Amino acid sequence: MIEIQFWWLAILPVFFGLGWLAARVDIKHVIAESHSLPLAYFKAVNHLLAGEINKAIDLYIDIAKKHSETIELQATLGQLFRRRGELERAIRMHQKILSRRELDENQRQQIQLELAIDFIKAGLFDRAETILHDLANTDSARLARKELLAIYQQEHEWQKAIATAELLRDESHSYQLEIAQFYCELAAESLIRAQHDKAINELELALKEHRQCARAHLMLGEIAFTKGCFDLAIEHWLKIATHDVHYLALAARFILNAYREKNQLAEGISLLTRYVQQNPELDVIDLIYEQLLATTGIDAAYEFVRERLRENPSMPGLRKLLEAHLLVAPDEQKVELEIISKLLHDNTRTYSMYYCNECGFKTRQFFWHCPGCNQWESYAPIRGKSRAAV
Ligand SMILES: [Zn+2]
Repeated sequence: MIEIQFWWLAILPVFFGLGWLAARVDIKHVIAESHSLPLAYFKAVNHLLAGEINKAIDLYIDIAKKHSETIELQATLGQLFRRRGELERAIRMHQKILSRRELDENQRQQIQLELAIDFIKAGLFDRAETILHDLANTDSARLARKELLAIYQQEHEWQKAIATAELLRDESHSYQLEIAQFYCELAAESLIRAQHDKAINELELALKEHRQCARAHLMLGEIAFTKGCFDLAIEHWLKIATHDVHYLALAARFILNAYREKNQLAEGISLLTRYVQQNPELDVIDLIYEQLLATTGIDAAYEFVRERLRENPSMPGLRKLLEAHLLVAPDEQKVELEIISKLLHDNTRTYSMYYCNECGFKTRQFFWHCPGCNQWESYAPIRGKSRAAV
């Protein structure tokens, strides 16, 4: 009898527990959420987190078909199609969402941006531009301008890129470096058309925007050299060092050429020798070595490399020394020296590449604008080193 009367005492804590839970969680909301977010949704999220895009997309397609009313799901699916490279499907999906009447203003802008990105990826820049211009006076204007800036850079529309970057600049990002580079691009185009004065004007605008723009100094030096103004050319090139001394490596060959034109090659060589004593950069060491070999002879060239190696022992330096040694070595030593030289060559290949500090792209050619990640001035101006290491 006693057991029958008091059995309910055992479940009292459960009721208390339920009361506590109900006070803290809106049960209706939980139920509604669990309906709008089926189990497959969480599975899809798990696939996404694991980087399994294709599995996630298959699940999303399934969910999106059953829940066509859910705009967020459809939008996510559109993005996933784009990531998988199915641009037509992404475009169709985003256009379909845009045709829905119940979209609020925020959602409309968001989907317009997504559609514009689809068009950019598909190379349909005109259509992307039209959408992005429509967003100019909305809350999404800044995001739209960033996409427009990307388009103008891809299309080499540098004047439009400058105007857009000027609108984008704020305390967080001045865009000085980029705008100066856009002016340099304009100047490069003017130089192709032999419009030297126009190019000079554009390079001065670059320097007005970003006083330490090494590329503008480099190009101004080249124009002065072409006009036969060798002192002015050297003056421009030496200004590069005021920004970042390592960029001088890009001008080293030009500097020597200008000194040669002035019949003062020895002065040019000693100027660059002082430079490599502080900055032992292989390209410049190579250059001086070549010049010494051609003008003064093997002994001076060999001695120069030996000095550099003593100042800064390095594998590429040793390789250079061996190359110099090979020229004067007796025949019976040459075979062994060549084997060692080849070994060193194979092991120092990384020293012959320029590296992008942003994306790690490596290349034999120096770029002001990385073809891998579209960043400006992300390459260290010397081979074998990342930007951060110089
Ligand atoms: Zn890069």
